Amino acid sequence: MEIIRTVDRLSQILSVAKEQGKTIGLVPTMGALHDGHLSLIERARRENDIVVVSVFVNPTQFNNPDDLRTYPRTEEADCIKLDNAGVDIAFVPSVEEIYPEPDTRVFDLGPVAEVMEGAMRPGHFNGVAQIVSKLFRMTRPTRAYFGEKDFQQIAVIRRMACIEGFDSLEIVSCPIKREADGLAMSSRNVRLSPENRKAAPAIHRILSESVNNASAASVAEVTESVIKQINAVDGLEVEYYQIVDADTMQPITDWDATRQAVGCVTVYAGDVRLIDNIKY
Ligand code: AMP
Repeated sequence: MEIIRTVDRLSQILSVAKEQGKTIGLVPTMGALHDGHLSLIERARRENDIVVVSVFVNPTQFNNPDDLRTYPRTEEADCIKLDNAGVDIAFVPSVEEIYPEPDTRVFDLGPVAEVMEGAMRPGHFNGVAQIVSKLFRMTRPTRAYFGEKDFQQIAVIRRMACIEGFDSLEIVSCPIKREADGLAMSSRNVRLSPENRKAAPAIHRILSESVNNASAASVAEVTESVIKQINAVDGLEVEYYQIVDADTMQPITDWDATRQAVGCVTVYAGDVRLIDNIKY
């Protein structure tokens, strides 16, 4: 595995690979790698000749300076995991390398970016679009891999790829990887207090139970019941729970057997913001 820190070196290596007709799989990450990231990487490894994993804590997608400051950074351990996973290129640039000057682009991301995370974290998705579009341009991958844990993010990236003309690039969405107790794996989980770590699996349990009960209740009833049950767990507080159309991200009012619905939640466990979702 080669660790690359500059855009020039990345372009140089990848242009050789492309001349040889090799396919390139890109997995963008912010590091502090766990098995969720590794599941994306394994899939990229199976489906491409060259696997590039970027490790970059992108400042422009953080709307909360404390969150950016406390975001876990474990570069050395990450590179060992990437090497063991058979990655060809770890792209680990500095902030200056990615943003030699401020990125002032404002993307027209449309309705998919206006609800939920878009409403709660102003500027977040624009920052995601900035970094992912730069990574797409620098890497020109055949396929790029994203996790369904950040369900809305995938819809936003599809929209960005469409408006930026990344037509031939395949965006691959990968299932959520969970701890044995059901908690969705996340780099932020290491910041949970022992008590909140014990409480957090209730999120997935309550969401799963709500799927079993959905046939007998309205969308509004299911929504209300999920919020009530999670808030009843000591240490957990729901920021939002919304059941939306899986393609448009718009809230639904009635179940429609012809459309996939997904319930998206964010929960504060102490000062750690956890995100999860479930399909109905
Ligand atoms: P992050 O480093 O948190 O920005 O995540 C990088 C990529 O890994 C994103 O596409 C995430 O959706 C994905 N990812 C993070 N956690 C998980 C998980 N538990 N299961 C599947 N994918 C994940």
